Amino acid sequence: MKTYLVTGGAGFIGTNFIKYILNNKDEIQLINLDNITYAGNINNLIGVDHNKYKLIKGDICDIKLVEKLFKEYNFDSVVHFAAETHVDRSIDTPAEFIRSNIVGVFNLLEVFKEFTKKNKKAKLIHISTDEVYGDVLKGRSNETDPYKPSSPYAASKASSDHLVYSYVRTFKINAVITNCSNNYGPHQHQEKLIPMTIKNIKEKKQIPIYGKGDSVRDWIFVLDHINAIDIIFHNGQYGETYNIGANNELENINLVEEICKLIDKKTGTSNSKDLISFVTDRPGHDMRYAIDSNKIMSQLNWRPKYSMQKGLELTIDWYLQSL
Ligand code: NAD
Repeated sequence: MKTYLVTGGAGFIGTNFIKYILNNKDEIQLINLDNITYAGNINNLIGVDHNKYKLIKGDICDIKLVEKLFKEYNFDSVVHFAAETHVDRSIDTPAEFIRSNIVGVFNLLEVFKEFTKKNKKAKLIHISTDEVYGDVLKGRSNETDPYKPSSPYAASKASSDHLVYSYVRTFKINAVITNCSNNYGPHQHQEKLIPMTIKNIKEKKQIPIYGKGDSVRDWIFVLDHINAIDIIFHNGQYGETYNIGANNELENINLVEEICKLIDKKTGTSNSKDLISFVTDRPGHDMRYAIDSNKIMSQLNWRPKYSMQKGLELTIDWYLQSL
């Protein structure tokens, strides 16, 4: 039986990860350390197998608690999702991003470093974002590109990546960093673009879009991200960084119009796109992200399985039922 520490497992990607592991792997126990911020939802994991899963409500910044958990469970590995993640909030209230995303990672690394002195095989996978590369006006970001984060969120994630890498170089911990593009799928908080659009269409409320809606994001269905994490976890080279993306670049306006069209078709409504309303752009907004995933594709043979069309259909169906 292997025991993994999953941090932030009550959030969007963590929840999908826990469900995937519990449904697909035997002989694994997951301990989910999550302090259930506004973004965490304990109801996400109702119904999972509680012989194989336990929630510990606590903060990754609480070093005594983190030390206690490592002692108690002797973790084989750590999958680190916990973070503050909403860019808009990082502009209004950045302090919490510095605390959880930087200090929290530092705490985890300190405890992990001590733990691995005796448990040399233990691994840590640090889940990060393509936003660390900043605006990509041409081409695609690859793993050797410099970091140029634009928002306090992106800067806090960039700092955490640097911390992880420094512990790999200096203390030789077994850690790997993943930088993934924009995820979408079930269980995402309603403040994010796709769930917010679906909710507002359902409630016939305006759909606010920043600027002219011409910012480009590179989208990936959450289960493709999780499959990539699984592959990197088992076959990735520790000490390395892997970009993860599915080559689905879309302007926000095109994405929102596509969601309107799909919902109109599914529910028999019409002209949901009339709900779109353009609002003043946020400061520091990057125009475009685009991620180059050649490394994971060529070295680890990972491929995304969900087309944007298929992923959007599944996501819309899930939200129409759950909202
Ligand atoms: P989320 O906001 O949905 O969930 C974050 C979870 O972390 C929540 O359950 C929250 O309660 C928990 N958390 C926050 N601070 C904590 C703390 N101090 N201690 C313990 N738990 C804490 O986030 P998400 O979208 O699932 O993202 C998960 C990870 O993936 C993040 O590290 C994020 O940077 C990264 N990522 C996200 C995306 C995306 O598109 N959502 C893309 C690339 C990378």
